[in-house]
Amino acid sequence: ALALGLGLAGCSSNAEEPASNGGEEVAASDITVGVAMPTETSERWIADGDAVKSQLEEAGYDVDLQYANDDIPRQQQQLDQMITNGADILIVASIDGTALATQLENAADKGIPVIAYDRLINGTEAVDFYVTFDNYQVGVQQAQTLLQGLGYLDAENADTGLTDKKIIEVFAGSPDDNNAPFFFNGAMETLKPYLDDGRLTIGSGQDDFDTVATLRWDQATAQKRMEDLITSTYSGGSKPLDGVLSPYDGISRGIITALENAGYGSTIEEGLPIVSGQDAEIASVKMIQDGVQFGTIFKDTRKLATQAVEAASAYAEGTEPEANDTETYDNGVKVVPSFLLESDIVTAGSIQSLLVDSGYWTEEEIAAGV
Ligand code: BGC
Repeated sequence: ALALGLGLAGCSSNAEEPASNGGEEVAASDITVGVAMPTETSERWIADGDAVKSQLEEAGYDVDLQYANDDIPRQQQQLDQMITNGADILIVASIDGTALATQLENAADKGIPVIAYDRLINGTEAVDFYVTFDNYQVGVQQAQTLLQGLGYLDAENADTGLTDKKIIEVFAGSPDDNNAPFFFNGAMETLKPYLDDGRLTIGSGQDDFDTVATLRWDQATAQKRMEDLITSTYSGGSKPLDGVLSPYDGISRGIITALENAGYGSTIEEGLPIVSGQDAEIASVKMIQDGVQFGTIFKDTRKLATQAVEAASAYAEGTEPEANDTETYDNGVKVVPSFLLESDIVTAGSIQSLLVDSGYWTEEEIAAGV
């Protein structure tokens, strides 16, 4: 590893000074950025990995990109390896936000700045910066998606005045992912007035995060829980269910499969309940276009990658990345300075403007669903 920039061994922490290695300018190509991503089973992380790698390479850095297959020991090993191999900066999207303290403290000892990517890393001093979306707001938007689909809100999120009573179920993400409670709290706060005045009822009564969480955001786990709910609460599919709050497109697809199998229909028109989502995964965007899933939340991974690369470049140049939030993300040891991006609700009517016009997916990809 080269000594460069702020926090890296043997260098001045004076922000005015350029990155230096014993007085010599350090070229970007001498800097290796280790990028640890959680899994390749979900498209968004492949898109994130690709975007971070290509943008870092464009800026001239060397990149060591690793995926851990949602296996915690594997991610720990990958980080150990990156540090041993001389990574100068780390960008980490954790699987379990509390499982990396040993590795990251080792990085800190070596003066390697650590940028938490999308998911906060908890319980350690050794995380320097956090790039993510406004996760609470993502949850708000997930609930708004559901409320739009159920007819309580219009496409601009204005109240339609509908007073009908409807039945829903709620799902949350992985309990070891710091984002999952943010999404869930944002969503439940938004649904609260409707639950309080009885317009909405959670049929099963299951509304507690731990009860409705989905370990590793796993599609099959979500499908199984939906099947169990259909059996326990909906008489195998003969009782009405109007909507399901889902925090992620993979979970949404599991829920929809269970609902279709129980006879709720194959499209919303045919009676399939309204299901929300997150990530604008291609299979789900096709389902939204086909009237199967009602909507999703689009988080532009290219923009997140750009923020991560900017943060890495700041460290490489011996400066601090610029935060736009210094209050929200307390990891139990410190409040981590963060850069939060905004997300958008996508429904059938906004696929073109949000996803196609921005070049995120082509019309051909959406039509094919892959
Ligand atoms: C991300 C979501 C994603 C989920 C499952 C979360 O940490 O913020 O975008 O849907 O993980 O991969």
